[in-house]
Amino acid sequence: MDLSYSAESDAFRRDVAAFLKANWDAAAAAAAPDRREREAALRRKAVEHGYLYRGIPRQYGGSEQQPDILKAHIIREEFGKARAPMEIPGVGVQMVVPTLLECGSQWQRDFFVARTLNGEFRWAQGYSEPDAGSDLASVRTSAELVDGHWVINGQKTWSSLAHKAHYMFALVRTDRTARKHAGLSYLLLDLKQPGVTIRPLKQITGDAEFCEVFFDNVRTPQDWIVGAPGEGWAVSKTTLSHERSGFIGSAATSVALFGKLVELARHTMLNGRPAIEDPLVRERLGVLDGYVSAHQYSSYRQFSMAAHGQDAGIAPLMNKLVNTRIADDVAAIARDLIGSSLMLAPPLAGGRGAGNEKWVNQFMGSLGLAIAGGTSNIQRNLIAERGLGLPRDPSNADSAVVNA
Ligand SMILES: Cc1cc2nc3c(=O)[nH]c(=O)nc-3n(C[C@H](O)[C@H](O)[C@H](O)COP(=O)(O)OP(=O)(O)OC[C@H]3O[C@@H](n4cnc5c(N)ncnc54)[C@H](O)[C@@H]3O)c2cc1C
Repeated sequence: MDLSYSAESDAFRRDVAAFLKANWDAAAAAAAPDRREREAALRRKAVEHGYLYRGIPRQYGGSEQQPDILKAHIIREEFGKARAPMEIPGVGVQMVVPTLLECGSQWQRDFFVARTLNGEFRWAQGYSEPDAGSDLASVRTSAELVDGHWVINGQKTWSSLAHKAHYMFALVRTDRTARKHAGLSYLLLDLKQPGVTIRPLKQITGDAEFCEVFFDNVRTPQDWIVGAPGEGWAVSKTTLSHERSGFIGSAATSVALFGKLVELARHTMLNGRPAIEDPLVRERLGVLDGYVSAHQYSSYRQFSMAAHGQDAGIAPLMNKLVNTRIADDVAAIARDLIGSSLMLAPPLAGGRGAGNEKWVNQFMGSLGLAIAGGTSNIQRNLIAERGLGLPRDPSNADSAVVNA
């Protein structure tokens, strides 16, 4: 595999690096009281240079560049090296913006997109309900059209950061007589209105990032629907395809996590010597190293195929599963290495702490990865059915997968 870049790519990389050198000082920004303004100013300049929001038309605040997977990769690498902020994180930019650009009406794009890109509007995802997670088409939260407004009643759950969001995009049932999928619509709604009750849920890490959201005759204007009534399933699939499209099979998180684990093994003493010298620890690290390397080379392969406009087939379906598996293995080895330090509580609920207690957070946080955005079992079903062409599980005939 030839992993070298062309002279043209190298020149582009130098341009990005020079831009960052001239415009961003991570150490100074970290300590500055106006860090947010500095980040916003850098983003504005980076858009002018065509580095951020590349796929988004200029009229909505993007830099409207031709798709170029190599340039996107180089930008990501250079911004990472310079510890410079990239696009505003969160479901607003990752999911709502592409959905509105693909399926939204003109006024919706004009009103929401630029304000979401600059962080003025924050969003929560209202898909899951107590009995509709994997089987997402079972949602029961209803919306009825009354005098030009949808009137919404029901409950969503696991809505990440809903307590800090201004708006929600929600999958709701607008026709109880239609078949399961056909009765759904995709609504945008204002969370700051009477009738919306948001309750953060405390997690095992001590954080409270997810929320239950209750709707009691909540209203949203008739034209805040994306797509037509009954088209919610198709629109929501557009959104979900953006949820994990992320960056093609990137193994960066797994590689970084493994590096931290090796450091931990170097610094932790086991039977009077560094744990990394222990044969059993070495064996476990060696096996995991094999997984991480395989994941990394698979991601290079997917990247290379995408750069040549080829379809990587089943490989992208495995990415989330492999990331989850590696995070899980790292957590298990770290747990065994730090032993009784696992009882150390981080100084703040959900905080990472400075010493071994940060591994407590990693250990407990890794559990959620196997559930978020489609569970590992659902992921295996996708690989079996869409990737390997195996027959569908007959018990799921009507539930048509799902929140994945
Ligand atoms: C960190 C995190 C963030 C999240 N953020 C959001 C958010 O912002 N907005 C939102 O709407 N939701 C969010 N979720 C919810 C998430 O999408 C659901 O938890 C997930 O889809 C699983 O649904 P469930 O919890 O109802 O579990 P269930 O669907 O009840 O699944 C329970 C178990 O049964 C298995 N199972 C179910 N159906 C099948 C099947 N057909 N085949 C094989 N196994 C099956 C599952 O794999 C799982 O092990 C978040 C979850 C997490 C962990």
